[in-house]
Amino acid sequence: MTATGRMDFRGGVHPPERKSLSADAAIEVLPTPPEVRIPLVQHIGAPCESLVKPKTPVAMGEMIGKAGGFVSAPVHASIDGTCGMADVTTLPNARHVAVIPITAGPQTLSGQGLWDAIFGGEWPTRHLEDHAPQQIVEAIQAAGIVGQGGAAFPTHVKLVRNETKPIDTLLVNGCECEPYLTADHRMMIQLPGPIISGALLAAQAADAKQIIIAIEDNKPVAIDNLRRAVRGTKIQVVVLPTHYPMGGEKMTIRAALGRVVPTGGLPLDVGVVVINVGTAAAIARAVLRGKPLTHRVVTVTGSGVARPRNLLAPIGVSYKTLIEHCGGLTDQAARVLSGGPMMGLAIGNLDTPVTKGTSGITVLTSQEARKAEELQCIRCGRCVDVCPVGLVPTKIALACRFKDWDLARRYHLDACIECGCCAYICPSGIPLVQLMRMGKAEIPRKKK
Ligand code: SF4
Ligand code: SF4
Repeated sequence: MTATGRMDFRGGVHPPERKSLSADAAIEVLPTPPEVRIPLVQHIGAPCESLVKPKTPVAMGEMIGKAGGFVSAPVHASIDGTCGMADVTTLPNARHVAVIPITAGPQTLSGQGLWDAIFGGEWPTRHLEDHAPQQIVEAIQAAGIVGQGGAAFPTHVKLVRNETKPIDTLLVNGCECEPYLTADHRMMIQLPGPIISGALLAAQAADAKQIIIAIEDNKPVAIDNLRRAVRGTKIQVVVLPTHYPMGGEKMTIRAALGRVVPTGGLPLDVGVVVINVGTAAAIARAVLRGKPLTHRVVTVTGSGVARPRNLLAPIGVSYKTLIEHCGGLTDQAARVLSGGPMMGLAIGNLDTPVTKGTSGITVLTSQEARKAEELQCIRCGRCVDVCPVGLVPTKIALACRFKDWDLARRYHLDACIECGCCAYICPSGIPLVQLMRMGKAEIPRKKK
Protein backbone atom coordinates (compact mmCIF):
# COMPACT_ATOMS: atom_id res chain seq x y z
CA MET A 1 0.00 0.00 0.00
CA THR A 2 1.23 3.52 -0.70
CA ALA A 3 0.01 7.04 -0.17
CA THR A 4 -2.10 7.96 -3.18
CA GLY A 5 -3.30 11.48 -2.45
CA ARG A 6 -3.21 14.45 -4.74
CA MET A 7 -0.83 15.99 -2.20
CA ASP A 8 -2.99 19.06 -1.74
CA PHE A 9 -6.55 20.24 -1.10
CA ARG A 10 -8.77 23.04 -2.40
CA GLY A 11 -8.95 26.38 -0.63
CA GLY A 12 -6.61 27.42 2.17
CA VAL A 13 -4.16 30.31 2.37
CA HIS A 14 -0.41 30.98 2.48
CA PRO A 15 0.20 33.27 5.46
CA PRO A 16 3.71 34.75 5.80
CA GLU A 17 5.93 32.37 7.77
CA ARG A 18 7.84 33.32 10.89
CA LYS A 19 9.11 29.85 11.81
CA SER A 20 12.69 31.09 11.49
CA LEU A 21 12.28 32.85 14.86
CA SER A 22 12.47 29.50 16.69
CA ALA A 23 13.11 26.75 14.11
CA ASP A 24 16.80 26.44 14.97
CA ALA A 25 16.28 26.64 18.73
CA ALA A 26 16.95 23.14 20.10
CA ILE A 27 14.42 22.00 22.72
CA GLU A 28 15.58 23.25 26.11
CA VAL A 29 14.49 21.84 29.47
CA LEU A 30 12.67 24.52 31.45
CA PRO A 31 14.14 24.82 34.98
CA THR A 32 11.69 23.43 37.52
CA PRO A 33 9.21 26.21 38.37
CA PRO A 34 8.38 26.89 42.04
CA GLU A 35 4.76 25.88 41.39
CA VAL A 36 2.56 24.23 38.78
CA ARG A 37 -1.25 24.39 38.64
CA ILE A 38 -2.66 21.29 37.01
CA PRO A 39 -6.12 21.62 35.45
CA LEU A 40 -8.51 18.73 36.07
CA VAL A 41 -9.86 19.21 32.54
CA GLN A 42 -7.32 19.29 29.74
CA HIS A 43 -9.19 17.34 27.13
CA ILE A 44 -12.46 17.01 25.24
CA GLY A 45 -14.67 14.86 27.48
CA ALA A 46 -15.61 14.40 31.11
CA PRO A 47 -13.63 16.29 33.81
CA CYS A 48 -11.34 14.41 36.20
CA GLU A 49 -12.09 13.83 39.84
CA SER A 50 -9.39 15.02 42.25
CA LEU A 51 -7.55 12.28 44.16
CA VAL A 52 -5.57 14.56 46.46
CA LYS A 53 -6.13 16.86 49.41
CA PRO A 54 -4.15 19.97 50.45
CA LYS A 55 -0.72 19.14 51.93
CA THR A 56 -0.60 15.73 50.15
CA PRO A 57 2.98 15.03 49.04
CA VAL A 58 3.15 13.82 45.42
CA ALA A 59 5.87 12.48 43.16
CA MET A 60 6.27 13.36 39.48
CA GLY A 61 4.07 10.98 37.49
CA GLU A 62 1.62 10.23 40.31
CA MET A 63 -2.04 10.34 39.31
CA ILE A 64 -3.79 13.29 40.99
CA GLY A 65 -7.01 13.31 38.96
CA LYS A 66 -9.01 10.21 38.00
CA ALA A 67 -10.65 10.09 34.54
CA GLY A 68 -14.35 10.89 34.72
CA GLY A 69 -15.37 8.28 32.13
CA PHE A 70 -14.18 6.48 29.00
CA VAL A 71 -13.92 9.73 27.01
CA SER A 72 -11.67 11.37 29.59
CA ALA A 73 -7.99 11.25 30.56
CA PRO A 74 -6.42 11.19 34.04
CA VAL A 75 -3.98 13.91 35.08
CA HIS A 76 -0.68 13.41 36.87
CA ALA A 77 1.73 15.49 38.97
CA SER A 78 4.34 17.01 36.64
CA ILE A 79 6.83 17.78 39.45
CA ASP A 80 7.62 16.36 42.89
CA GLY A 81 6.11 18.47 45.63
CA THR A 82 3.15 19.17 47.88
CA CYS A 83 -0.43 19.80 46.78
CA GLY A 84 -2.13 23.03 47.78
CA MET A 85 -5.76 24.05 48.06
CA ALA A 86 -7.75 23.40 44.86
CA ASP A 87 -8.40 26.58 42.90
CA VAL A 88 -10.14 27.60 39.66
CA THR A 89 -8.62 29.00 36.47
CA THR A 90 -9.88 30.08 33.08
CA LEU A 91 -8.39 28.26 30.13
CA PRO A 92 -7.83 30.02 26.77
CA ASN A 93 -11.10 28.52 25.46
CA ALA A 94 -12.88 30.51 28.24
CA ARG A 95 -13.72 27.34 30.17
CA HIS A 96 -13.50 27.70 33.98
CA VAL A 97 -11.82 24.61 35.41
CA ALA A 98 -10.55 23.38 38.76
CA VAL A 99 -6.75 23.29 39.19
CA ILE A 100 -4.58 21.46 41.71
CA PRO A 101 -1.53 23.56 42.69
CA ILE A 102 1.70 21.71 43.50
CA THR A 103 4.61 23.48 45.19
CA ALA A 104 7.94 22.05 44.03
CA GLY A 105 9.91 19.91 46.46
CA PRO A 106 13.72 19.75 46.57
CA GLN A 107 13.90 16.34 44.83
CA THR A 108 12.29 17.30 41.53
CA LEU A 109 14.30 16.14 38.51
CA SER A 110 15.58 18.90 36.25
CA GLY A 111 17.99 19.66 33.40
CA GLN A 112 19.71 16.77 31.63
CA GLY A 113 18.46 14.29 34.26
CA LEU A 114 14.86 15.16 33.38
CA TRP A 115 15.55 15.00 29.62
CA ASP A 116 17.15 11.55 30.03
CA ALA A 117 14.28 10.33 32.20
CA ILE A 118 11.75 11.37 29.57
CA PHE A 119 13.46 10.78 26.23
CA GLY A 120 16.77 9.00 26.96
CA GLY A 121 17.69 5.41 26.06
CA GLU A 122 16.84 3.22 23.09
CA TRP A 123 13.47 3.31 21.35
CA PRO A 124 12.81 -0.05 19.66
CA THR A 125 11.29 -0.50 16.21
CA ARG A 126 11.20 -4.31 16.32
CA HIS A 127 8.99 -6.83 18.13
CA LEU A 128 6.43 -4.15 18.99
CA GLU A 129 3.76 -6.50 17.64
CA ASP A 130 4.33 -8.53 20.83
CA HIS A 131 2.27 -5.89 22.63
CA ALA A 132 -1.41 -6.84 22.62
CA PRO A 133 -3.70 -4.08 21.24
CA GLN A 134 -5.73 -3.98 24.45
CA GLN A 135 -2.56 -3.60 26.52
CA ILE A 136 -1.43 -0.66 24.34
CA VAL A 137 -4.79 1.08 24.64
CA GLU A 138 -4.86 0.57 28.43
CA ALA A 139 -1.32 1.98 28.83
CA ILE A 140 -2.26 5.05 26.76
CA GLN A 141 -5.43 5.54 28.80
CA ALA A 142 -3.59 5.19 32.14
CA ALA A 143 -0.94 7.69 30.95
CA GLY A 144 -3.60 10.35 30.31
CA ILE A 145 -2.55 10.91 26.71
CA VAL A 146 -4.61 13.33 24.64
CA GLY A 147 -3.94 14.75 21.18
CA GLN A 148 -1.05 17.18 21.41
CA GLY A 149 -1.86 18.97 18.15
CA GLY A 150 -4.45 21.17 19.86
CA ALA A 151 -7.79 19.33 19.85
CA ALA A 152 -6.87 17.34 22.99
CA PHE A 153 -9.14 14.37 22.30
CA PRO A 154 -8.30 11.35 24.53
CA THR A 155 -6.02 9.19 22.36
CA HIS A 156 -7.08 5.76 23.67
CA VAL A 157 -10.61 6.38 22.36
CA LYS A 158 -9.27 6.90 18.81
CA LEU A 159 -7.17 3.73 18.88
CA VAL A 160 -9.72 1.21 20.16
CA ARG A 161 -10.46 -1.24 17.35
CA ASN A 162 -13.86 -0.61 15.82
CA GLU A 163 -15.44 -3.73 14.31
CA THR A 164 -17.87 -1.81 12.11
CA LYS A 165 -15.37 0.82 10.90
CA PRO A 166 -11.96 -0.84 10.60
CA ILE A 167 -8.86 1.33 10.23
CA ASP A 168 -6.30 0.61 7.52
CA THR A 169 -4.03 3.67 7.86
CA LEU A 170 -2.36 5.49 10.73
CA LEU A 171 -1.46 9.03 9.72
CA VAL A 172 1.12 10.71 11.94
CA ASN A 173 0.72 14.43 11.53
CA GLY A 174 3.98 16.36 11.42
CA CYS A 175 2.68 19.17 9.21
CA GLU A 176 2.63 21.89 11.87
CA CYS A 177 1.13 24.40 9.46
CA GLU A 178 0.71 27.29 11.96
CA PRO A 179 3.14 29.87 10.55
CA TYR A 180 5.06 30.51 13.81
CA LEU A 181 5.13 27.19 15.68
CA THR A 182 8.11 24.82 15.63
CA ALA A 183 7.62 22.38 18.57
CA ASP A 184 6.72 19.44 16.29
CA HIS A 185 9.49 20.42 13.88
CA ARG A 186 12.09 20.24 16.66
CA MET A 187 10.70 16.93 17.93
CA MET A 188 11.03 15.41 14.45
CA ILE A 189 14.66 16.59 14.31
CA GLN A 190 15.69 15.67 17.86
CA LEU A 191 13.37 12.81 18.83
CA PRO A 192 12.69 10.51 15.86
CA GLY A 193 13.13 7.40 18.08
CA PRO A 194 10.10 7.80 20.35
CA ILE A 195 7.98 9.15 17.46
CA ILE A 196 8.64 6.03 15.39
CA SER A 197 8.18 3.56 18.27
CA GLY A 198 4.93 5.32 19.21
CA ALA A 199 3.65 5.26 15.63
CA LEU A 200 4.30 1.52 15.35
CA LEU A 201 2.54 0.88 18.67
CA ALA A 202 -0.45 3.05 17.72
CA ALA A 203 -0.78 1.21 14.40
CA GLN A 204 -0.61 -2.11 16.24
CA ALA A 205 -3.42 -0.99 18.58
CA ALA A 206 -5.66 0.25 15.75
CA ASP A 207 -4.76 -2.62 13.36
CA ALA A 208 -3.55 -0.14 10.74
CA LYS A 209 -1.44 -1.88 8.10
CA GLN A 210 -0.20 1.36 6.54
CA ILE A 211 1.66 4.05 8.52
CA ILE A 212 2.37 7.47 7.03
CA ILE A 213 4.21 10.38 8.61
CA ALA A 214 3.07 13.54 6.78
CA ILE A 215 5.34 16.60 6.82
CA GLU A 216 5.06 19.93 5.00
CA ASP A 217 7.87 20.68 2.55
CA ASN A 218 9.09 23.69 4.54
CA LYS A 219 10.87 21.31 6.98
CA PRO A 220 13.62 19.68 4.88
CA VAL A 221 15.84 18.79 7.85
CA ALA A 222 13.00 17.01 9.65
CA ILE A 223 12.06 15.19 6.42
CA ASP A 224 15.65 13.94 5.88
CA ASN A 225 15.98 12.96 9.51
CA LEU A 226 12.77 10.94 9.62
CA ARG A 227 13.41 9.35 6.23
CA ARG A 228 16.69 8.01 7.59
CA ALA A 229 15.11 6.96 10.88
CA VAL A 230 12.22 4.97 9.30
CA ARG A 231 14.52 2.79 7.18
CA GLY A 232 13.83 -0.88 7.90
CA THR A 233 10.31 -0.15 9.18
CA LYS A 234 7.01 -0.14 7.29
CA ILE A 235 6.56 3.59 7.86
CA GLN A 236 6.48 5.97 4.86
CA VAL A 237 7.38 9.64 5.10
CA VAL A 238 5.16 11.69 2.78
CA VAL A 239 6.01 15.28 1.91
CA LEU A 240 3.07 17.64 1.41
CA PRO A 241 3.06 21.20 0.06
CA THR A 242 3.23 24.04 2.58
CA HIS A 243 -0.34 25.21 2.49
CA TYR A 244 -2.38 26.31 5.50
CA PRO A 245 -4.36 24.48 7.09
CA MET A 246 -2.52 21.34 5.95
CA GLY A 247 -2.29 20.15 9.58
CA GLY A 248 -6.09 19.93 9.88
CA GLU A 249 -6.69 16.19 9.85
CA LYS A 250 -9.30 16.24 7.09
CA MET A 251 -6.94 18.23 4.84
CA THR A 252 -3.97 15.97 5.60
CA ILE A 253 -6.04 12.85 4.85
CA ARG A 254 -7.19 14.34 1.56
CA ALA A 255 -3.71 15.44 0.55
CA ALA A 256 -1.83 12.31 1.61
CA LEU A 257 -4.41 9.65 0.75
CA GLY A 258 -6.93 11.24 -1.60
CA ARG A 259 -9.76 10.25 0.76
CA VAL A 260 -12.55 12.69 1.62
CA VAL A 261 -13.94 12.64 5.15
CA PRO A 262 -17.70 13.25 4.79
CA THR A 263 -19.24 16.42 6.27
CA GLY A 264 -19.84 15.79 9.94
CA GLY A 265 -17.83 12.56 9.71
CA LEU A 266 -14.60 11.41 11.31
CA PRO A 267 -11.32 10.07 9.87
CA LEU A 268 -12.41 6.55 10.86
CA ASP A 269 -15.25 6.86 8.32
CA VAL A 270 -12.53 6.62 5.65
CA GLY A 271 -10.40 4.04 7.47
CA VAL A 272 -7.88 6.46 8.98
CA VAL A 273 -6.76 7.47 12.45
CA VAL A 274 -4.62 10.61 12.83
CA ILE A 275 -2.22 11.34 15.68
CA ASN A 276 0.27 14.16 16.17
CA VAL A 277 4.05 13.50 16.35
CA GLY A 278 4.17 14.57 20.02
CA THR A 279 1.30 12.21 20.78
CA ALA A 280 3.23 9.37 19.12
CA ALA A 281 6.25 10.06 21.36
CA ALA A 282 4.00 10.09 24.44
CA ILE A 283 2.51 6.73 23.38
CA ALA A 284 6.00 5.19 23.23
CA ARG A 285 6.79 6.42 26.76
CA ALA A 286 3.49 5.15 28.11
CA VAL A 287 3.59 1.69 26.56
CA LEU A 288 7.30 0.89 26.71
CA ARG A 289 8.12 2.59 30.02
CA GLY A 290 4.81 2.96 31.83
CA LYS A 291 5.26 6.74 32.11
CA PRO A 292 2.36 9.21 32.08
CA LEU A 293 2.16 12.47 30.15
CA THR A 294 3.72 15.01 32.52
CA HIS A 295 5.65 17.28 30.13
CA ARG A 296 5.30 18.56 26.59
CA VAL A 297 7.29 20.63 24.11
CA VAL A 298 5.98 24.20 23.77
CA THR A 299 7.15 26.87 21.30
CA VAL A 300 7.35 30.37 22.80
CA THR A 301 7.69 32.77 19.89
CA GLY A 302 6.73 35.97 18.10
CA SER A 303 8.31 39.41 17.81
CA GLY A 304 6.75 40.29 21.15
CA VAL A 305 9.00 37.89 23.10
CA ALA A 306 12.71 38.63 23.63
CA ARG A 307 14.26 35.21 22.80
CA PRO A 308 11.92 32.75 21.05
CA ARG A 309 12.58 29.13 22.07
CA ASN A 310 11.25 25.60 22.21
CA LEU A 311 10.90 24.37 25.78
CA LEU A 312 10.24 21.01 27.43
CA ALA A 313 7.78 22.23 30.06
CA PRO A 314 5.87 20.54 32.88
CA ILE A 315 2.10 20.51 32.45
CA GLY A 316 0.62 23.20 34.69
CA VAL A 317 3.48 25.73 34.49
CA SER A 318 2.22 29.27 33.84
CA TYR A 319 2.58 31.05 30.50
CA LYS A 320 4.26 33.82 32.48
CA THR A 321 7.07 31.49 33.65
CA LEU A 322 7.69 30.31 30.07
CA ILE A 323 7.74 33.87 28.71
CA GLU A 324 10.09 35.05 31.49
CA HIS A 325 12.45 32.17 30.69
CA CYS A 326 12.50 33.47 27.12
CA GLY A 327 13.68 36.92 28.23
CA GLY A 328 10.21 38.37 28.83
CA LEU A 329 7.95 40.48 26.64
CA THR A 330 9.39 43.16 24.38
CA ASP A 331 8.20 46.77 24.56
CA GLN A 332 6.14 46.19 21.41
CA ALA A 333 4.29 43.13 22.78
CA ALA A 334 0.57 43.64 22.38
CA ARG A 335 -1.23 40.30 22.30
CA VAL A 336 -0.46 36.87 23.77
CA LEU A 337 -2.00 33.92 21.97
CA SER A 338 -2.33 30.34 23.12
CA GLY A 339 -1.27 28.61 19.89
CA GLY A 340 -0.34 30.30 16.64
CA PRO A 341 -1.81 33.39 14.95
CA MET A 342 -4.20 31.42 12.69
CA MET A 343 -5.98 29.18 15.21
CA GLY A 344 -4.69 30.57 18.51
CA LEU A 345 -6.85 32.14 21.20
CA ALA A 346 -5.98 35.49 22.80
CA ILE A 347 -5.38 35.21 26.52
CA GLY A 348 -5.78 37.99 29.04
CA ASN A 349 -4.02 36.40 32.00
CA LEU A 350 -0.43 35.14 31.94
CA ASP A 351 -1.12 32.89 34.96
CA THR A 352 -2.89 30.57 32.50
CA PRO A 353 -1.39 27.07 32.91
CA VAL A 354 0.12 25.01 30.09
CA THR A 355 -2.08 22.00 29.34
CA LYS A 356 -1.46 18.82 27.36
CA GLY A 357 -2.83 20.58 24.26
CA THR A 358 -0.68 23.74 24.48
CA SER A 359 1.51 23.61 21.38
CA GLY A 360 2.79 27.15 21.58
CA ILE A 361 2.56 30.68 22.88
CA THR A 362 2.80 33.44 20.27
CA VAL A 363 3.30 37.05 21.31
CA LEU A 364 2.39 39.52 18.58
CA THR A 365 3.43 43.17 18.47
CA SER A 366 0.86 45.94 18.17
CA GLN A 367 1.67 46.24 14.47
CA GLU A 368 1.14 42.49 13.86
CA ALA A 369 -1.98 42.36 15.99
CA ARG A 370 -3.52 45.48 14.47
CA LYS A 371 -7.14 44.84 13.71
CA ALA A 372 -8.64 46.49 10.69
CA GLU A 373 -11.86 48.31 11.44
CA GLU A 374 -14.79 46.09 10.55
CA LEU A 375 -16.60 47.13 7.38
CA GLN A 376 -19.66 45.79 5.60
CA CYS A 377 -19.39 42.59 3.60
CA ILE A 378 -18.70 43.48 -0.02
CA ARG A 379 -19.69 39.98 -1.25
CA CYS A 380 -16.30 39.43 -2.84
CA GLY A 381 -16.55 35.68 -2.17
CA ARG A 382 -12.94 35.33 -1.02
CA CYS A 383 -13.97 33.63 2.21
CA VAL A 384 -15.84 31.02 0.17
CA ASP A 385 -12.83 30.48 -2.12
CA VAL A 386 -10.44 29.79 0.77
CA CYS A 387 -12.68 27.68 3.02
CA PRO A 388 -11.01 24.26 2.85
CA VAL A 389 -14.18 22.41 3.84
CA GLY A 390 -16.38 24.10 1.24
CA LEU A 391 -18.56 26.22 3.54
CA VAL A 392 -20.05 29.66 2.88
CA PRO A 393 -18.50 31.49 5.86
CA THR A 394 -20.23 34.79 5.27
CA LYS A 395 -23.70 33.21 5.56
CA ILE A 396 -22.85 31.13 8.62
CA ALA A 397 -21.26 34.11 10.35
CA LEU A 398 -24.34 36.20 9.70
CA ALA A 399 -26.56 33.46 11.14
CA CYS A 400 -24.32 33.30 14.24
CA ARG A 401 -24.32 37.08 14.62
CA PHE A 402 -28.14 37.07 14.69
CA LYS A 403 -28.20 33.93 16.86
CA ASP A 404 -30.23 32.05 14.27
CA TRP A 405 -28.87 28.65 15.30
CA ASP A 406 -31.17 26.62 13.05
CA LEU A 407 -29.90 28.52 10.02
CA ALA A 408 -26.28 28.19 11.17
CA ARG A 409 -26.79 24.43 11.49
CA ARG A 410 -28.36 24.24 8.04
CA TYR A 411 -25.26 25.93 6.64
CA HIS A 412 -23.14 23.24 8.39
CA LEU A 413 -21.53 25.33 11.10
CA ASP A 414 -20.57 22.06 12.79
CA ALA A 415 -18.26 21.21 9.84
CA CYS A 416 -16.15 24.36 10.40
CA ILE A 417 -12.66 23.41 11.57
CA GLU A 418 -12.00 26.93 12.92
CA CYS A 419 -8.91 27.26 10.72
CA GLY A 420 -9.34 31.03 10.41
CA CYS A 421 -8.67 31.18 6.63
CA CYS A 422 -11.89 33.10 6.04
CA ALA A 423 -11.13 35.78 8.65
CA TYR A 424 -7.53 36.01 7.41
CA ILE A 425 -8.57 36.74 3.83
CA CYS A 426 -11.61 38.95 4.46
CA PRO A 427 -10.91 42.49 3.13
CA SER A 428 -13.69 43.90 5.32
CA GLY A 429 -12.10 42.72 8.56
CA ILE A 430 -15.18 40.70 9.55
CA PRO A 431 -14.33 38.41 12.49
CA LEU A 432 -15.69 35.36 10.70
CA VAL A 433 -13.88 32.65 12.67
CA GLN A 434 -14.69 34.31 16.01
CA LEU A 435 -18.38 34.26 15.04
CA MET A 436 -18.10 30.57 14.09
CA ARG A 437 -16.47 29.77 17.44
CA MET A 438 -19.11 31.68 19.33
CA GLY A 439 -21.83 29.81 17.43
CA LYS A 440 -20.22 26.42 18.03
CA ALA A 441 -19.98 27.16 21.75
CA GLU A 442 -23.57 28.44 21.94
CA ILE A 443 -25.34 25.64 20.07
CA PRO A 444 -24.63 22.86 22.63
CA ARG A 445 -25.75 25.23 25.39
CA LYS A 446 -29.05 25.81 23.58
CA LYS A 447 -29.66 22.06 23.39
CA LYS A 448 -29.66 21.72 27.22
S1 SF4 B 1 -15.65 28.69 7.80
FE1 SF4 B 1 -14.45 27.54 9.27
S2 SF4 B 1 -13.43 25.97 8.04
FE2 SF4 B 1 -14.14 27.55 6.60
S3 SF4 B 1 -12.42 28.96 6.38
FE3 SF4 B 1 -13.69 29.78 8.03
S4 SF4 B 1 -12.82 28.94 9.90
FE4 SF4 B 1 -11.99 27.70 8.20
S1 SF4 C 1 -14.41 37.71 2.39
FE1 SF4 C 1 -15.42 39.17 3.78
S2 SF4 C 1 -16.18 40.76 2.43
FE2 SF4 C 1 -15.69 39.02 1.10
S3 SF4 C 1 -17.62 37.85 0.99
FE3 SF4 C 1 -16.49 36.99 2.67
S4 SF4 C 1 -17.26 38.11 4.47
FE4 SF4 C 1 -17.85 39.32 2.68
